[in-house]
Amino acid sequence: MKVSAEYIDTMALQPLLRLIEPALRLFPSLASQCAVCHSWPARRVCAPCIGRFVQILPRCRTCALALSGGLSQCAACVRQSPPLHAAFAAVSYGFPWSELIASYKFGTDAAWASVFGELLMRAPGLSAHLAGLQADDWLLPIPLSAQRLQSRGYNQAWQLAKALGAQSGARAKSDAGLLLRIKDTPPQTRLERHARLQNVEGAFVVEPLRRAGLEGRRVVLVDDVMTSGASLFAAARALRDAGASEVTGVVFARTE
Ligand SMILES: [Zn+2]
Ligand SMILES: [Zn+2]
Repeated sequence: MKVSAEYIDTMALQPLLRLIEPALRLFPSLASQCAVCHSWPARRVCAPCIGRFVQILPRCRTCALALSGGLSQCAACVRQSPPLHAAFAAVSYGFPWSELIASYKFGTDAAWASVFGELLMRAPGLSAHLAGLQADDWLLPIPLSAQRLQSRGYNQAWQLAKALGAQSGARAKSDAGLLLRIKDTPPQTRLERHARLQNVEGAFVVEPLRRAGLEGRRVVLVDDVMTSGASLFAAARALRDAGASEVTGVVFARTE
């Protein structure tokens, strides 16, 4: 039987860990395992794993798709300008982030929001963009439908938006009730591109009584994952139609 090196390390450490456990309880940030490599003690994702799995890639400035060859925009965005002024992503969707996002999305462990927020703050240009927001601008989550929110218990994008606001010190207001999702749609990942675009058509509206607060304001829209961009684009269009002067998309992970 092949036993992994991490497993042996953790086993060998057990007596020591029991001894220092009372002290570690005083420092909860140290008293956990890395969720990726299981090294212990570590932060939720240890520094070596961040170094290995968070690569700063050149990305399309309007949809955050990873690019090569010194381009600033992808072919799709050049062909048809998306409704986003700019887009930022921390990582490409894949191992180990896909698993961590799934456990964040469908679990109850909202603490992942601050880990993802911290990693997002490394995306080139994002902290400057957030610092440039004014007190009347908005940092908004992609909303869930009321039905989905009730079954899931919390909106992971709202947690991420709040974490990002706290970590960046942005002056913009955050609100989960300004942009609404009025159509419950099947998860985007199960649909082909064309179906995704149709799927989110008319899914988002701005709360009618609050449109005045958007007039001429800048908006940063936050979500955990961006696949085709259909949801983010539809939400951005709803905000622009309601008077927002520009909408920027910020996602933790972007598919390739
Ligand atoms: Zn690790
Ligand atoms: Zn693009």
